[in-house]
Amino acid sequence: MQTPQDLLISAHELSGELISLRQKLHENPEFALDLPTTQKTLLDHLAGLGEITLGKNLSSIALHIKGANPGPTVLLRADMDALHVTEETDLTFASKNGYMHACGHDLHMASGVGAAKLLFQARDGLSGDVLIWFQPGEEGHHGADIMIDEGMLEVTGSRPIAAYGLHVFTSLPLGIIACKPGPLMASAGDLNVTFHGSGGHGSMPWLSKDPVAPMVEAISALQTMLNKQFDQFDPVILNVSWIRAGDDATNNVIPDSASFGATVRTFSETNTKKLHELAPKLIHSIAEGFGLTASVEFSQATRVLVNDKTSADIVAATAKELVGEAGYMNMEHPIAGGEDFASIVHEIPGAFVFVGACPPAIDHAQAPTNHSARALFDDSVIPLGAALLASLAVAHLS
Ligand SMILES: [Zn+2]
Ligand SMILES: [Zn+2]
Repeated sequence: MQTPQDLLISAHELSGELISLRQKLHENPEFALDLPTTQKTLLDHLAGLGEITLGKNLSSIALHIKGANPGPTVLLRADMDALHVTEETDLTFASKNGYMHACGHDLHMASGVGAAKLLFQARDGLSGDVLIWFQPGEEGHHGADIMIDEGMLEVTGSRPIAAYGLHVFTSLPLGIIACKPGPLMASAGDLNVTFHGSGGHGSMPWLSKDPVAPMVEAISALQTMLNKQFDQFDPVILNVSWIRAGDDATNNVIPDSASFGATVRTFSETNTKKLHELAPKLIHSIAEGFGLTASVEFSQATRVLVNDKTSADIVAATAKELVGEAGYMNMEHPIAGGEDFASIVHEIPGAFVFVGACPPAIDHAQAPTNHSARALFDDSVIPLGAALLASLAVAHLS
């Protein structure tokens, strides 16, 4: 049986190939669900490792690696999409097409390819199969849900018994592995609200239905509601990120409508449900109080990402074998970012794990964060990512 350390040594032998793959992917980022060039590049690197199934409505890849002996299936997942961000790094392989792998998904793909190669080499010792998903559309496009709907969980003939995925962060020191059981990442969604009034002369608001005043009331009342009606030990974040009303050239005109949009984060399904009930009630009642109407829309939110306890324990044990006790961080709190890996662990038990990728010359506490146009990820961490993913599969199958 291959230990995590054996797999790490083999991963380092692949590091030249994996790092140049990452740099090629970084230079040619693609957005959302349709990633034909990325898919083609990955297929070139995965040839001969197992059976491939491609997505129908997105450029996904499911690779089925068969172990020598019968047994269950374990799922590993790497996401593939870039962000609509114009890169501002001076890397030699910086992107020039207006998109950027500013969330490190290029490192995830290279780690996934590395894990595939390690597991293919180790297949004689595996009792069961490994399914590796390369998934487009993580950044708010629900790629994981589409892959689930397309039956990609069942392509090996049996549903995986466990699922693992990793995410690199510039805000964690290089090579640190961090995880926790239970809620790890928030449910993330949008709230969009419009107050429908009727415009008129700014000197005589009583003859119109001003939508601006109730909008301002609602923005403030929502914050108070979070304070008074939600458990303060199960937080809800609601941040209004834009407001729109009127025209800055006409101070004497009351507009017909006023709108705002907020990002919403919750850490339990109970609070997601509660917010979807209470927020519209509050907004409609304010609109009614001012004699007008409002429309309230929640987007499809990602689920809360909840790590299964047993899987998170396997992550902790495996991480400590790879990076030592000091290299593993048991997180105290979840983070407020969202992830559609949450939909996968809603279907089957599993765990998502964070890996530090801040270049050592930069202070991780000051480093431009994931999603920044200046974010820098140290690709020397890729062999560790590959060995971590492969070791988590081996832990279930040997
Ligand atoms: Zn992201
Ligand atoms: Zn991401």
